[in-house]
Amino acid sequence: MRADLHSHSTASDGTSPPAEVMRQARAAGLDVIALTDHDTVAGHREAAAALPPGLALLPGMELSCRWYGHSVHLLGYLFDPGHEELAAECARITASRRDRARAMVERLAALGVPVTWEQVAALAGDGVVGRPHIARAMAAVGAIDRPDEAFSPEWIGAGGRAHVARYALDPERAIGLIRDAGGVSVLAHPRAGARGWLMPDDLIAGLAAAGLSGVEVWHPDHDQAQRAHLQALAARLNLVASGGSDDHGELTGYRIGSDTIAPDAYERLISSATGGTPVSGP
Ligand SMILES: [Zn+2]
Ligand SMILES: [Zn+2]
Repeated sequence: MRADLHSHSTASDGTSPPAEVMRQARAAGLDVIALTDHDTVAGHREAAAALPPGLALLPGMELSCRWYGHSVHLLGYLFDPGHEELAAECARITASRRDRARAMVERLAALGVPVTWEQVAALAGDGVVGRPHIARAMAAVGAIDRPDEAFSPEWIGAGGRAHVARYALDPERAIGLIRDAGGVSVLAHPRAGARGWLMPDDLIAGLAAAGLSGVEVWHPDHDQAQRAHLQALAARLNLVASGGSDDHGELTGYRIGSDTIAPDAYERLISSATGGTPVSGP
């Protein structure tokens, strides 16, 4: 059984619609795919309706958190999307994402980059707006050659000249909310240094004590040494060693299925969830 527990669609900052992500997941030989868009479950309905035979959808979400001044991503699975407090927090985060995207566009304009909010909003469509949409707009106007160049101190990288912070959750509270909603949570890419903070082991232990169920070990931004270290840490903290491709379509080079979770770890992860069940294809 092959299960990829981390993917994005146009419901947030991926480039493929949810139905297309499902098709690509099956084409990549997956049996289970988790759709984990940023701070939204808006893609789940389309994804569930488009499941090819033999593929199951694990409903999920990647929640924006901040801890000790650093951005932290928390994956939640099988929670009740109707849970009031959790839904309200997602709405607050997505509204803040829109406000700060407008503010970053203004700062870029002041720096001489001719991107407009209309361009960014058109790229985001109905989805949750994120920095990758701004990065794509910057590449479209020729300010940079490739979207990933935007994530630097010069532009919209953390602390960058045009970077603006947004509302985010305390991860311990986020873990509690997901658990309250019947779900299970997994700490996303804690050692993806290229994109942010290398979270120290003792802080991961703190989240484990707060009710975290798993930690992403198998992630494209983790090298072999980091994977080995995190696998041992997960065992020591009794966390599930999880994994997924974090595919964003064209933006990440269509890598769905590039990283997966072991079948026994998958069963262990979802066994304690009560807020939902995986959706099976026809
Ligand atoms: Zn992430
Ligand atoms: Zn992600």
